[in-house]
Amino acid sequence: MAWDFETDREFQRELDWMDEFVRDEIEPLDFVIGHPNDFSDPNRDRLIRPLQKEVKKRGLWACHLGPDLGGQGYGQLKLALMNEILGRAKCAPVVFGCQAPDSGNAEILAHYGTREQKERYLQPLLDNEICSCYSMTEPQGGADPKVFTCGAELVGDEWVINGEKWFSSNARYASFLIVMAVTDPDGPAYQRMSMFIVPSETKGVEIVRNVAVGYESEGAHAYIRYNDVRVPRDHILGAEGQGFIVAQTRLGGGRIHHAMRTVGKVRRAFDMMCERALSRTTQGEVLAQKQMVQAMIADSWIDIETFRLLVLRTAWKIDKLKNYKEVRADISAVKAAMPRVYHDVYARALQIHGSLGLSTEMPFAAGVLDSFHMGLADGPTEVHKVTVAKQVLGRYQGTDEMFPDYHLIKRRERALEKYAHRLERDVGNL
Ligand SMILES: Cc1cc2nc3c(=O)[nH]c(=O)nc-3n(C[C@H](O)[C@H](O)[C@H](O)COP(=O)(O)OP(=O)(O)OC[C@H]3O[C@@H](n4cnc5c(N)ncnc54)[C@H](O)[C@@H]3O)c2cc1C
Repeated sequence: MAWDFETDREFQRELDWMDEFVRDEIEPLDFVIGHPNDFSDPNRDRLIRPLQKEVKKRGLWACHLGPDLGGQGYGQLKLALMNEILGRAKCAPVVFGCQAPDSGNAEILAHYGTREQKERYLQPLLDNEICSCYSMTEPQGGADPKVFTCGAELVGDEWVINGEKWFSSNARYASFLIVMAVTDPDGPAYQRMSMFIVPSETKGVEIVRNVAVGYESEGAHAYIRYNDVRVPRDHILGAEGQGFIVAQTRLGGGRIHHAMRTVGKVRRAFDMMCERALSRTTQGEVLAQKQMVQAMIADSWIDIETFRLLVLRTAWKIDKLKNYKEVRADISAVKAAMPRVYHDVYARALQIHGSLGLSTEMPFAAGVLDSFHMGLADGPTEVHKVTVAKQVLGRYQGTDEMFPDYHLIKRRERALEKYAHRLERDVGNL
């Protein structure tokens, strides 16, 4: 497949507008807004709403959605380039109507919700009047959904949900939760679970505590207990036993968006690293003249550019092939590479800034920790590496031969055989 590296001019104008808008109007917001989903913060409405209006006017609101849902129906490559810009500011995805987990949850509702559910949950979610939570991981293990026990049972005309979930981000701000629960405990491993909409105010939804990760001052990752939580029968999303299929709906594109936001974030750290290297003098010369600092800068540049190309190529492949299955290895490779690039560049930026870099007055220590978030959420790196390896190995076959087919002696023998006639003649002509 040929590949064109150019961005069309019209779209580039939109990217340039976004670039300036994010830098001038959104980046400063990160210093005055606590959590972009905290609707109880009066500053949120005052500051974010007018910016959302501008984005809508520009036609760049919720671009991950198809035109039927008010988006542009942009392909993954365009979305990737947009997300690279949005990654620079914590509030930027909310201002552009594409924040996780709402973007993925909206896709689930759009695919599987009834007309009433779309009116009640999807429309206000798309308008950012409310936010949502995705409640899947359980305290006894997240990387292996086969060990999940939180269950839902159909009693009369209601589903009754019982069990615990762990790290349900944004539950404290959410109007509804999308909950994965076991509906057929003895069924085949990947048909045991179903997906449900649970309005947050439903009796029995108990937030045991909000867990904070290392760099957060306030926790937003809920440890939740569902105690006899009753929802109407039609609050199941998709068919019974389709939980994993429904879950897949939200992941493919989302991982690419996360990855490009990470590129945006990492580029900022890289810019800071370069500026510092050219500014700080030690032992008579700027850091930029020290070869080991140069190595850190070169390694960071190479890491960022190679990762960026991998993400863009994956986005481009999704657009071309229009089939996530065929791009599974690429998506998992992106997911597995992301935390390493994030970690390594932020760690080098921290090191180059010395004590200042390690302090809370700079973003590097938080970035190093946040890189672990990228290596855990939506599946740990190890699991994605297993997917890459399995997919790639599926393209090869083993052999029963003692020496492999590509053994140099065998290849030489085959080459001599192939050219025997010609070789003899050439020798004869001498
Ligand atoms: C900041 C953050 C936000 C999150 N938000 C949400 C959310 O909104 N909703 C939600 O449902 N979940 C959320 N999660 C949970 C996330 O999906 C889980 O952390 C993830 O699935 C891993 O599960 P676990 O933490 O229980 O780790 P475990 O399953 O206990 O795994 C621990 C470690 O074991 C190793 N490991 C696991 N499996 C394998 C394997 N097959 N091969 C080799 N090694 C392996 C890995 O090193 C892994 O990190 C969030 C997590 C974080 C960190």
